[in-house]
Amino acid sequence: MASTLDPQKEGICTSLPTDPGAILDAHVHVMPDPIGAVLNKTSGNLALAGEGYASARDRIRSAIGPVHGLIHKVYAGLRHFPVGVRMGVEEFGALAPVPSLLIESTAGDLLSSMECNRIAMSILIAHPPVTSNERVLELSEEHLGRLIPAVNYGRDSGLSEDEAVSEFRKAIDRREGALLLKIHAASDGENAESARYRALLDVASEYSIPVILHTGCIHAHLIHRSPALGDASKFKSWFADWPRLPFILAHMNMHEPGVALDLAQEFENIHVDTSWQPAEVIIEAVRRIGSERIFFGSDWPLLGGNQSVALERLAEARASGCISDEDITRIQGGNLLALLRKSFSQAAESVRAHWNRDGA
Ligand SMILES: [Zn+2]
Repeated sequence: MASTLDPQKEGICTSLPTDPGAILDAHVHVMPDPIGAVLNKTSGNLALAGEGYASARDRIRSAIGPVHGLIHKVYAGLRHFPVGVRMGVEEFGALAPVPSLLIESTAGDLLSSMECNRIAMSILIAHPPVTSNERVLELSEEHLGRLIPAVNYGRDSGLSEDEAVSEFRKAIDRREGALLLKIHAASDGENAESARYRALLDVASEYSIPVILHTGCIHAHLIHRSPALGDASKFKSWFADWPRLPFILAHMNMHEPGVALDLAQEFENIHVDTSWQPAEVIIEAVRRIGSERIFFGSDWPLLGGNQSVALERLAEARASGCISDEDITRIQGGNLLALLRKSFSQAAESVRAHWNRDGA
C-alpha cells in the first residue's frame, strides 16, 4: 500500500491535551447549515448574512438555552413509559431536533459550545451522507488538537465492502492512526454478521483503533432502518471475537442502560459514554463497573445545548455524594485521554511499520 505519510503531520497523536483535568467530549457531530448556505448564495452583502446572521443565531441560542434542560429531561424520562407509548413518541419525535439544529449544528457552533463549556477536545463523528468522512477529516486537520475524527463506512457512505476497507486504510494512513471508527448498525440496517463490519473491525484491530458503536433502540424509522439493531447485546460476539479492541458503547444503550452495563461487566474491552443518560444512571454505572471505563459524551448538537446539559448531569452526579471528585476527573476526560494516548501511539507505530515495510 502506498503511504501518504506527510512529515509535516508528524505529531498528530501528540496533539492530545496535556492537562490531566481537561474535559473531553467522546461524542459530537456537525451538520451543514442550510439557512446560512441559502443566505450566502442569495443575500450577498445584506446585513442578515455574515456577522449579522451569526449574532442572530447566538442571541436565539442563549434565549432558548434554559429550555434545553427541560427537553433533555423529557427525553430521559421516556424510558419510564410503556414501550408502546415510547415507540409512538419516538416515531413522531424524530423531527423534534430540527428547529434547534437550525441554530446550533455547524462546526463554528461546536467550537463556540466547546469554548463556553471549557471542553478541550471532542471526537467528531461522521454520519454519511449528512456529514461525510472527508468533512470530519478536514475539520480535524483544520482544528488540530481540538477535534479528533471518527470515520463511518456504513451503508450510506455509498462504498462497497472492499472500497470501505480501502478508504478506512487511507484515512488511517492520512491520520497516522489518530482516529476512531464509528459503526451505526441501526441506521445501516446491518447486523453483527455483516461482512462489511467484520472486515472493518479486522482493520481496526490490526491498528488498535477504538470503535464507537451506536447503542440504544430509538423507534424512529425515518432515521434508523432497523431500530432493534440498537440493542448492544446483539453485538456480543464482537466483544469476544476482538478481545483486545476497545469498544465504546455510545449512549450506554439509551433507554436500557442495564444491558450496556451487563456487557461491560462481562467484557473488559467495553467502555460506555454518558450521552443521553441522567445523573442516576451515571452513578449506577460507576457503582457497577467503576469509573475507569466511562467517558463523558454529549451527542451534540441533537436536542440542543447538549454539552452544557451533559456537564450539568455530571455535576449532579457528583453533588449526590455517591461518586468522588476523582471519578469525575476520570469520566470528564482522564479515561478517554488515556485510551487515545495508548491506542494512537500503537496505531502510529503500526502505520510506520507498514510504511517502512512497503517503502523497503
Ligand atoms: Zn451520535
